[in-house]
Order: sequence, then structure tokens, then C-alpha cells
Amino acid sequence: MRTVRRSYRLRAYPNGAQRRWLDRWFGAARWLWNTALEIRSEAYRECGLRLTGNDLSRWVTQWKRTPGHEWLAEVPATCLTQCLRDQDTAFGNFFAHRARYPRFKRKSTSGSLRFQDAGRSWGRGVVSLAKLGTLKLAESLPNVERPDMVTLSRDAAGRYHVSFSVAVEPSLLPIVQRSVGVDVGLTHLATLSTGEKIPNPKRYHAHLRYLRQQQRCLARRQTGSRRREKQRLRVARAHAKVTQERQYALHNLTTRLVREFDLICVEDLNVKALARGRNARAIHDAAFSEVRRQLAYKSGWYGRILVEVDRWYPSSKTCSECRYTLDELRLDERQWRCPRCGFCHDRDVNAARNLLLEGLRQQLAGCDDRVLRVDAGDACPEEEILVQVLAEEARSGHRNRFCMEQVRF
Ligand SMILES: [Zn+2]
Repeated sequence: MRTVRRSYRLRAYPNGAQRRWLDRWFGAARWLWNTALEIRSEAYRECGLRLTGNDLSRWVTQWKRTPGHEWLAEVPATCLTQCLRDQDTAFGNFFAHRARYPRFKRKSTSGSLRFQDAGRSWGRGVVSLAKLGTLKLAESLPNVERPDMVTLSRDAAGRYHVSFSVAVEPSLLPIVQRSVGVDVGLTHLATLSTGEKIPNPKRYHAHLRYLRQQQRCLARRQTGSRRREKQRLRVARAHAKVTQERQYALHNLTTRLVREFDLICVEDLNVKALARGRNARAIHDAAFSEVRRQLAYKSGWYGRILVEVDRWYPSSKTCSECRYTLDELRLDERQWRCPRCGFCHDRDVNAARNLLLEGLRQQLAGCDDRVLRVDAGDACPEEEILVQVLAEEARSGHRNRFCMEQVRF
């Protein structure tokens, strides 16, 4: 059976006592991380010794008995062990050149703890954690097997979340014989090759304006004052709201695309261009990479194909009707008329159609001579068969050459 790892994140509402405990525990976990990191770094610098989490967990037992450090014994033991193990992973990533050297954790309003046993109650809108008791959740836990590990975290906006990942069996979606090109943009969240434009969430810009105001207000507050702390929370909440709204819209979009189309063509993310781009580009890219990330895993789950088209492909200034390429197209030109065939293009729709054409061409490597055509809404019959073949290929995991020959006519 095909399984994938799926992660869940649910809002949690600890009561007053639990919140006070967590305040202390987050602090203790941070202290342990920083102390362990210091000891490890020093042992390596001084004697070339590579300590592991196991070595350090013996020390933890000692510390718990040391006067002045009794508070360490309050924290669930598995959380501390897990903290050391996480540091092992961080070092492992560093030695494998996957990450930077582990860093010290700053004292902040956010924090997290990893619990090894999710406890007895599971699934009725509560989860029970070691030494913390039953924790109220915003919704019922999904009907999945109980995870080995549950993370409880608090973000800068003071919200608590429970997160975990489990293996689930996603069911493949039925083949719908439709393909689409998607152009992610600034003015609209996305434009589809079908001509549809998906707008940004309505309140999004209002939130951004509010955020700017509150940020300016924070800058004027005195460091360490009570009013600054209040204002910091306001800014953090505004940030959280913007992110939430954007995330909601993006998930809505990607889930819809994956449901409605078998083959989805998007622009490829070019990392080099990121470094050069201006601010507007950065926002665009942030949304863009998130759309691509969501499409990638969702199409993996549900048996869809995601095609990435090279960013340098001139998708905006090529005519999707006759393939004529303009020399230049300014960013503010939302519409243009093709000098060869006279077709009046909407900039974004044209780009999306070109992405679809180019994506299909990439999928059909070796059939470049075929003239592909995309109409608004429905594809020509040849293409329908093609998309079906491609979708079936993606499911079986190998290219079915026999079918391909048939499609080429
Ligand atoms: Zn043209």
C-alpha cells in the first residue's frame, strides 16, 4: 500500500496553570539546548571530543540533583531527551554539510517541546501529554494512528499549536482529462490558462496597511517597557493574520487545481533571480514557491502531474496563438495585440497558456514537431487522450512508450 507522511497542526488552548508550566518548561528546554551546545562546542575545541546526546543525558540526571537546578526535574524527562536528540540531528546535518553550525536559542516569546508519548486520550478534541494532563484542542484529532511524537509550540503571537506527522494512505483522485497552465502573480493570486483569474484575498491589503501602521508604532515604543510588549504582541498578531489569510487562499487554490486538473504547468523557480530581484519580485517569489511546494506534494498524494517550465522561457511576450515573440513587453502593459495574427492578449492569461503549451511540450520530449493548441476551457481531443496517458503514466511510475506511440498519430 502506498503511504505518505502527512503532518497536522492544530491549535491548542492550555488553561492558566498549564500555560504557567509551559512558560517554565520552554525556558528549561532552551537552557538545556544552550548548555549542551556550549559543552559540546568546548569539548570539541579543547580536546577534539565529539559528545553525543547520550553522553549529555547522563549529565542531565546529575544536574537534576544539583542544588539550584531542581527545576530541570519538573520538565517531562522525554522532552529533555528529545531536546538532546534534536541537537544530535542538528550536528548531523552540520557534519553532512546540509546546515550551518547549530545556534544558541535566544530568549523569546516562542518556544517548543517535543513529547514522546501522546498519552491516553486521543481524538475527542483533547490530547493528553506527560505531566501536563489533558490539553484542549480547537478541533478533533484526525482519524489516524497515534503518532510517536507530538510537538507543542508557542509562536510570537502567543498561540499554542500541537503538531505531529503520521503515515497515511491517500486515495488517488479520478482522472479528469484536463490540463492547465498557472501564472502566479502580484495583482492576482493566480491566472489560469482557462482565462480564469483568482484574486488575492479581499482583506489582504487592508491587513498589510494595518501591519505597517502597527510596526511604525512599535518602533516608537521604549525598549523593555510594558507598552512595547503590548505593541509587540499586536504586531505579531497582525503578522499571523496576514500569513493565515494568504495560506488559506493558497491552500484553497492548490487543492482546487489538483482536484480539477490532471496536469498542471507552472513556472520553475529560479533561485539566482531571487537574489537579483527587487522587493515586488520577492513577494511574488515567496507566494510562488509556496504554490509550487503545495502543488508538488498534493499532486504526489493524489496522482497528478506537475510540470515546471524554465523561468527564462518568454511566457509573457510570446503569442500563444501564432508563437510570435515580441522584443519587449513592459511590466505595466496588461494587454497587447499580436502584430502578426492580430489577437488581443491579456498579459497573464497569455502567459498561463504559454506555460501550458511549453509544459506539454516538455512532457512530450521527442514530439517537438507536433503543433499543440490550447483553447480556453476545453482541450482538443488529441490532447485529452494525451493528458490521460500522461496521468496514467504518473500513477504507474514509468513511461508507457506503447501508448505514447498511439497518441502521436
Ligand atoms: Zn499572434
